[in-house]
Amino acid sequence: MTDCLFCNIIRGEIPAKKVYEDDSIFAFEDISPQAPTHILIIPKEHYTSLKEVPGTEKDLLGHILLQAKKIAREKGLEDNGYRIVLNTGRDSGQAVFHIHFHLLGGRRMSWPPG
Ligand code: AMP
Ligand code: ZN
Repeated sequence: MTDCLFCNIIRGEIPAKKVYEDDSIFAFEDISPQAPTHILIIPKEHYTSLKEVPGTEKDLLGHILLQAKKIAREKGLEDNGYRIVLNTGRDSGQAVFHIHFHLLGGRRMSWPPG
């Protein structure tokens, strides 16, 4: 059993505001939202980052992206748009080492990111 913050959230041992769950993925509200909608979507399988995800996990990665799209639609973000972020490794600022896709929306965002 992995002693990891997000694995603990999946198991319900650390509370989180769940948005979606199925056999392979879990989505919940970010504890420190950077936009009016800020949701994290993660695989239940523990991978530290994209770097560690094997080439055999195409379906899993595709499933996460397509579920992010569905959640964005449910949250009313489709018209104005949204951003999906996958921080990977030190230079990106990744702070939690269980791969997670950020879904951000509800305000205008700038580019390039900081
Ligand atoms: P990253 O910098 O890409 O690794 O993002 C980690 C994200 O996890 C940040 O946006 C944090 O606010 C979020 N986070 C950290 N702890 C929790 C928690 N217990 N519940 C929900 N989100 C969290
Ligand atoms: Zn984990």
